[in-house]
Amino acid sequence: MSKNILILPGDGIGPEIVTEAVKVLAALRDGHGLDIEMDEALVGGAAIDATGVPLPEATMALAREADAVLLGAVGGPQWESLDISVRPEKGLLGLRSGLGLFANLRPAILYPQLAGASTLKPEIVAGLDIVIVRELTGDIYFGQPRGVRTLENGERQGFNTMVYTESEIERIVRVACDIARKRDRRVCSVDKANVLECTELWREVATSLVKREYPDIELSHMYVDNAAMQLVRRPKQFDVMVTGNIFGDILSDAAAMLTGSIGMLPSASLNAAGKGMYEPIHGSAPDIAGKGVANPLATILSVAMMLRYTLGNAPLADRIETAVNRVLDSGLRTPDILSEGMTEVGTEAMGDAVVAALK
Ligand code: NAD
Repeated sequence: MSKNILILPGDGIGPEIVTEAVKVLAALRDGHGLDIEMDEALVGGAAIDATGVPLPEATMALAREADAVLLGAVGGPQWESLDISVRPEKGLLGLRSGLGLFANLRPAILYPQLAGASTLKPEIVAGLDIVIVRELTGDIYFGQPRGVRTLENGERQGFNTMVYTESEIERIVRVACDIARKRDRRVCSVDKANVLECTELWREVATSLVKREYPDIELSHMYVDNAAMQLVRRPKQFDVMVTGNIFGDILSDAAAMLTGSIGMLPSASLNAAGKGMYEPIHGSAPDIAGKGVANPLATILSVAMMLRYTLGNAPLADRIETAVNRVLDSGLRTPDILSEGMTEVGTEAMGDAVVAALK
């Protein structure tokens, strides 16, 4: 049965990079038997300009019906003075909560051809290939009670609550283990079980789940402070890392920067049914929007993740990743990843090169 993909270009460079990713999807549909239909809708600033809200009901309805969503990026200076409740970013949050996307997958991959782009020594990061699985809907970001209260002595006190239920821990650890089964079968669970009871439970539940359901997975545990250190010391020791919302927020950004090329990294957010929203990790890059120089590879690699995790088509995911590798081998580079001796190309030429390399 044909799968339905909702395309949300968004703002800034969003439409430019999404156009190239759509070319890749169309090439797979026309030349490689990928049975898909594509719809397009408004989100973010583009939706505010057209309808007054960042996530129109029509967009949300299409997103609910779709098997997968491909998003460019949202936001830009022209909407920054709006009230926070109607800013472009609210469109993203609305999609995440409306679709129940609780698992955020952030691969940090450093193509050997780009090892010079990292701020770390090439031998530490060349060939890096790890996935951070971050829980997205729980933890201290959502726990109650929360707020700022005034104590009896008149001093104000801010407070938040770190909370995880057993079922929330189990479902995110399952996601990590399922991913690890498609890779090196190693999962490192990150917590602060020496100090926080909430993550003591996390460790206990993760351990018993893996023992029960994933005996083939090698599970290790690491305190978050050590994990932060190990990510910059010896990042290639990891395969899949799984952690809660706040630790994952911080660690995934650190991991992304190991690669030094923000224009190369895709991401996925999944719900319990395996439906996903796929997007590059970068934003709408207003500084280069409209110039035709944005790197479309993160968005194209997001399509590969969509094929792997929602559409169940690993061979075509591999085909896209191989095509990207070939293009990098051929020396083509957008300005953000340009180095000496390489050939500078724009967004469109890079997309065309990937499409040609799919064959
Ligand atoms: P950004 O990621 O848009 O840009 C940071 C820097 O990286 C800029 O110099 C930009 O030119 C460069 N860059 C980003 N993507 C690139 C690409 N594909 N190719 C080449 N260079 C690229 O972050 P920012 O400047 O902090 O934010 C700009 C806007 O994007 C803001 O409105 C912000 O709220 C929004 N934003 C959206 C998302 C999202 O939609 N998921 C994420 C982050 C930021």
